[in-house]
Amino acid sequence: MFELMKLPYAQDALEPVISKETISYHYGKHHQGYVDNLNKIVKGTAYENMELEEIIREAGADLPRDGKGNELDSQYCPGRGSSLFTNAAQVYNHNLYWNSLRPDEPVGSGMSQTAEAYINEYWGSVDRLKETLTTTATKLFGSGWVWICKHEDDSPFVRATHDAGTPLDDPLVTPLLVIDVWEHAYYLQYKNDRTAYIDAIWPVINWDNLA
Ligand code: FE
Repeated sequence: MFELMKLPYAQDALEPVISKETISYHYGKHHQGYVDNLNKIVKGTAYENMELEEIIREAGADLPRDGKGNELDSQYCPGRGSSLFTNAAQVYNHNLYWNSLRPDEPVGSGMSQTAEAYINEYWGSVDRLKETLTTTATKLFGSGWVWICKHEDDSPFVRATHDAGTPLDDPLVTPLLVIDVWEHAYYLQYKNDRTAYIDAIWPVINWDNLA
């Protein structure tokens, strides 16, 4: 049986950026729903005792790739459209999302020097990384996720995935941080304004995931 992860902070801890009401629906209904669906799907199958990551890799293993860790077109992947993959990936993606956020305490505390040095090394500046994440989020049509991942040689990169897509099914890629850009992540507060949600989110991003 898979269980809903425990949130690493209180449901109101990301206020005012992400409200308690948003988290209550997002975590308590959406994320819980994916866990419940996954449990129903794997019951009595070979997947029942597998780790979440193993299910995702197995169900998404036949994705055609461009050699850089990006799938070419998810429509060609039978596993990608399956409810097993979708629900397992959504459980994993949300787990990382909650761990990619943290309360802004003390207010305006920003990021650690280690994280800042890491970002400066690879992106030149924190603003440049934020711009890249914002552009990637706003260009993504429909529902999905914006990720910071690293290649096997430890070099990081930003990418988006559609719907339940996750980079985890590529063994050469390690996801470090993710922002949920499904509308359910922001609609209660920001309505359909994804850019406003991304603009607001920086103080509660857990940059320590990077370094
Ligand atoms: Fe979500």
